[in-house]
Amino acid sequence: MTPPRVHITTYGCQMNQLDAELVAEVLRASSAQLVADPKAADVLLFVTCSVREHAENRVFSNIGKLAPRKRREPHLVVGLLGCMAQEHGPAVRRRAPVIDLVCAPGRLAELPALIAEARAGRKREALDPPRGHADFAASDAALDDAEVRRPLCGSSPGSPGRGRGKTGQAYVVAMRGCDNFCSYCVVPLVRGPERCRPPSLILEEVRRLLGQGARRITLLGQAVNKYAAEEGGRRWDLADLLEKVAEMPGLARLSFITSHPKAMTERLAQVFRDVPAVTPYLHLPAQSGSEAVLERMNRGYTAEEYMDRVAMVRALRPDVAVASDFIVGFPGESETDFEATCRLVRRARFSGAFVFKYSPRPGTAAAERLADDVPDAEKRRRNNRLLALVEEITGEENRKFVGRTVRVFVEEISPRPHARKGSDPFFAAANPQSAIRDPQLRGRTPCNRIVVFDGPPQLVGTEVDVAVIDSGPLTLFATRIAPT
Ligand code: SAM
Ligand code: SF4
Repeated sequence: MTPPRVHITTYGCQMNQLDAELVAEVLRASSAQLVADPKAADVLLFVTCSVREHAENRVFSNIGKLAPRKRREPHLVVGLLGCMAQEHGPAVRRRAPVIDLVCAPGRLAELPALIAEARAGRKREALDPPRGHADFAASDAALDDAEVRRPLCGSSPGSPGRGRGKTGQAYVVAMRGCDNFCSYCVVPLVRGPERCRPPSLILEEVRRLLGQGARRITLLGQAVNKYAAEEGGRRWDLADLLEKVAEMPGLARLSFITSHPKAMTERLAQVFRDVPAVTPYLHLPAQSGSEAVLERMNRGYTAEEYMDRVAMVRALRPDVAVASDFIVGFPGESETDFEATCRLVRRARFSGAFVFKYSPRPGTAAAERLADDVPDAEKRRRNNRLLALVEEITGEENRKFVGRTVRVFVEEISPRPHARKGSDPFFAAANPQSAIRDPQLRGRTPCNRIVVFDGPPQLVGTEVDVAVIDSGPLTLFATRIAPT
């Protein structure tokens, strides 16, 4: 049989983005060919997210659209990977009969065999065991193996990072799974218990990625600040790990996501002050500002404790940008509860926040025990109100950057260029006769704010100083500073 031509579509969080890179590596090692165009593929893989029903519906709708093609090309293989695969198992084929193979996040190393069987007409699934650290040891070892071999995201044709073009950026898993069991969340059910990778493995992987040209490293975990390992006769927490990674030559920026408020220690906060490579950005989801709702969510902190953690970090390094996630319309959330969330948002002055409408997920404590009693129209109203409030504040915070010089890590050519703001004096000075303008580039400040400015494509993957000339709630508009 000819080697399969595989296309990967990725939905969801950074963890899924990384899973897609692992899939690519596992397949490359098995001589499959990765292709950028789904029409050129004979195997279509979907790395999926099951955190909200809306996300699942989008996947089902897109997979459903493949039915006519599957009738025309009966040998086309469609694979459901990631969290939805673990959640639904083989039953998923009742809703989406075009699916041939189903593969859980921990079993990605088995994909070449699953694909070969599907191409031979046998539908199969590889699912994670119900629970328990020991059960995951073998599949984690296989994932580690693929992870240490994978090339830098976007560095080869058809690799999943390519479309996103985030040159110089690499994610590295510090922890898999989650033990927090927030009452609304399906992640502990689909990704298994918390497992911390040994520091030596993480350091080796970072070293290799830096050697391949990565400049920005982000350590990943669902509650990454709970990282704890024992190796070389000592204990390691996340602060220890960050300090060690920061020593590596070639590293420009080091970040970590996501942090859990209940595990936010002073020791970790000190890293923002003491380790220059660690970026002043902390993703610390609050989820709600209401004590009663936080308790029903099983988050393990009060709103005051949350604010204390933010204050502790800012006392040590005042310019840390704190970003958050919120769920609105959680069971029993009253208008008073919602107002408490708005108050917390005003006090914390986030640099950004994701707002989600509560979505009951089968198997979670909230879905089993609490009535989804906030009507959808009300969830939508609260969602819009909270987003507007967040944007009012991020708009005010972003305005403080106008007139300042910021160092931008250039990620890509803007996929959807913004209307150009202000004049661009450097452009005019540098290219007085030229009618051809540079494209708009998109990058990040150290505090993770998005910056757009005109510049040559060669700047992608490098750091440059730019002057901020205007701002909006989500974006800073800048101009390049003439090189001296
Ligand atoms: N581990 C991270 C944390 O604790 O913040 C992120 C987990 S989850 C993939 C990302 C976000 O999705 C959560 O922070 C939460 O706001 C949201 N989320 C999770 N389950 C949800 C649900 N059932 N309904 C709506 N939003 C949900
Ligand atoms: Fe889900 Fe809570 Fe774990 Fe985050 S910390 S993945 S929200 S259970």
